[in-house]
Amino acid sequence: MTEATCIAFIGLGNMGAPMAVNLHKAGFDVRAFDLSAAAMAGVREQGVTVAESAHAAVDGAQVLISMLPASRHVESLYLGETGLLPHLGDDTLIIDCSTIAPASARKVAEAAQARGLAMVDAPVSGGTPGAAAATLTFIVGGSAAALERARPMLAAMGKNIFHMGEVGAGQVAKLCNNMALGAIMAVTGEAIALGVAHGLDAKTLSNMMAVSSSRSWVLEAYNPWPGVLDGVPAARGYSGGFGNDLMLKDLGLAAEAAASVGAAVPLGEAARNQFALNRLAGRGGLDFSSVVKLLVKADGSA
Ligand code: NAD
Repeated sequence: MTEATCIAFIGLGNMGAPMAVNLHKAGFDVRAFDLSAAAMAGVREQGVTVAESAHAAVDGAQVLISMLPASRHVESLYLGETGLLPHLGDDTLIIDCSTIAPASARKVAEAAQARGLAMVDAPVSGGTPGAAAATLTFIVGGSAAALERARPMLAAMGKNIFHMGEVGAGQVAKLCNNMALGAIMAVTGEAIALGVAHGLDAKTLSNMMAVSSSRSWVLEAYNPWPGVLDGVPAARGYSGGFGNDLMLKDLGLAAEAAASVGAAVPLGEAARNQFALNRLAGRGGLDFSSVVKLLVKADGSA
């Protein structure tokens, strides 16, 4: 693949938009599409060519990248009578970066394979800051040969690439990561709220923990308590970022993955319930760090 490679990019949300922009900046010929006109306008302002439909975007493309919310969106994009698979050129490489059920990834990859097309599941970690800075971690499932074809595009959007195994293995590994992240976010918010309820300053407490044994990415880069870090969702009313309902989806997928092999994930299940409660409290569309609001009084105090 050269930088003149034509890439169709479908799904321009919080993650997809900056990823498409970074491919464009790296010199790839990107044709982007999203169902949302506002999302399309956002990338067009940054120089990315937009298409009228997903079918128009894949016309002549050598690579198709998708970054959609959940399994049902990915399956309906690729499969069925209106799906894209029959319309892709021979030898088009498919890279799905969405976080979806491993079984869905395998289902789409098998349908692609039946058409002679290679697909990798390449979910990401690093959040919207990583997407913007092109420092994402790609967690890849698929053949080594398909990954080598995908590598130049992944390298333009991220800095770490892990090959986890065959198709679906990237999704399994991503679910392991996000189950740990959900639990760490929930318990970190709980710890800060406990300290604040005892009169501690949230920033000093967080700074101490960030260099002590409870150190984590949440504390250093994504603190859930307002006023501790600039530029994070907590600093802007929990807008943008990684939606509570997307984390809830991932924890549900982790629970299903656990059930399918008889694994016990008691803390993952506890975290899933915290994010479900946060959704019931009306914060499903806010960033997942808003889960800390379950632990504070209406006036914001702990
Ligand atoms: P998002 O909800 O912000 O964006 C999804 C976009 O997909 C929306 O703009 C929507 O209009 C579009 N879309 C849905 N169906 C479509 C279709 N059929 N055709 C074209 N566009 C369609 O979601 P996001 O935060 O960008 O997350 C995308 C994926 O990445 C999810 O699977 C999520 O779990 C995962 N993820 C997100 C983050 C994060 O920090 N936001 C981090 C890692 C992984």
